[in-house]
Amino acid sequence: MWWLRSFLAFNICFCVSAEAAIPRPSLTSLENRDVRVLLGHFTELEISGTDLVLNNTVSIESSSVFSIHCNQAGISYGLNSKPEQRLQISSRGNFVNIQDKAYRGDIFIYIDHGNCAVVNKLNLEKYIAGLINKEMLASWPMEALRAQAVASRTYALHQMQYSSARNFDLESTTQDQVYDGASSETPKSNRAAESTQGMVLAWKHEPIKAFFHADCGGKTENPEAVWGEKYGYIRPVVCPYHQTSASQRHWNFHSSLYQLDQALHKVAGLLPRGFARLAHLESGPNNENARMNDLIISDSQGNTAVISANAFRNAVGNTHIKSTAFDLHANDNGVEFDGHGYGHGVGMCQIGAKAMADLGKSYREILQFYYPLAKLERLQ
Ligand SMILES: [Zn+2]
Repeated sequence: MWWLRSFLAFNICFCVSAEAAIPRPSLTSLENRDVRVLLGHFTELEISGTDLVLNNTVSIESSSVFSIHCNQAGISYGLNSKPEQRLQISSRGNFVNIQDKAYRGDIFIYIDHGNCAVVNKLNLEKYIAGLINKEMLASWPMEALRAQAVASRTYALHQMQYSSARNFDLESTTQDQVYDGASSETPKSNRAAESTQGMVLAWKHEPIKAFFHADCGGKTENPEAVWGEKYGYIRPVVCPYHQTSASQRHWNFHSSLYQLDQALHKVAGLLPRGFARLAHLESGPNNENARMNDLIISDSQGNTAVISANAFRNAVGNTHIKSTAFDLHANDNGVEFDGHGYGHGVGMCQIGAKAMADLGKSYREILQFYYPLAKLERLQ
């Protein structure tokens, strides 16, 4: 079931983060900083834990369970007389449980459009230990897990540089990195994090945006082709390691024109104004990394438009169109897509990293292979 887990990991960062001109702290000043991970938005939450402390002042002795409700007025729970706009929950007993999932560190709840925005603030290294098994399988070789630990730590540090204006640094989904709290930790994931503690991929002494994905299908991709933005430290590489892996490289997906039309029209701004019902689509030429850049689409009025293959993939569903390395064939029944690889293809190929580790390569060799321009450095 590797693919299921990898699916969770495969496509970090569909959106390019808004990297505004915020003063950036140096690598070293981030080392001991806690990371703030957005767990999600809820209207109501069940909190439990041992020896909980609210807003650093109100102690709830022994084990307790209570509910929190959020609306436009604020955060309400059994102990407060009037709704609050921000609530901090800590535990002297190590974990705060939210909806039965255990989290280390502190929980912060903010009001966001009438919902509870729940943020877990915890030590960066504990965060890394908690996410490794959500991004790779626990059964994979230790060197692959170590490579993931360094890539994830680097990615987190990169995002933390640009998030000071927000209440959180990273999302807990494929938008950034999949994280589900302390229950995913194992002795092996803890070891992978601890044995690489402080190791990051740097370029010009700054942490890179260490993209990764499930399966490149044979060659990794240029980020510019995916997000239209240049990252000088990422270079596509030919990835021959799939030959030794058990990866299910090929995929196919069938859809009716009607379904595709519905999916494309749902995304605001994707189609030109006045674009009518989708009547035809064909692939544009592949780029130098054997992926499709654009599709040419026509409507029932004879209008044509060019849309990016990545935008098309995200609109139709990136678990259906698993990569932009595909061919398409239209017939009377709809459109058949045949492709290979899984994910955006930029940076480290996780299935390739596993195959390299199986061949006896170290995590340093794996990272050097997928991020050839980055330097592995240890935070001081
Ligand atoms: Zn690969």
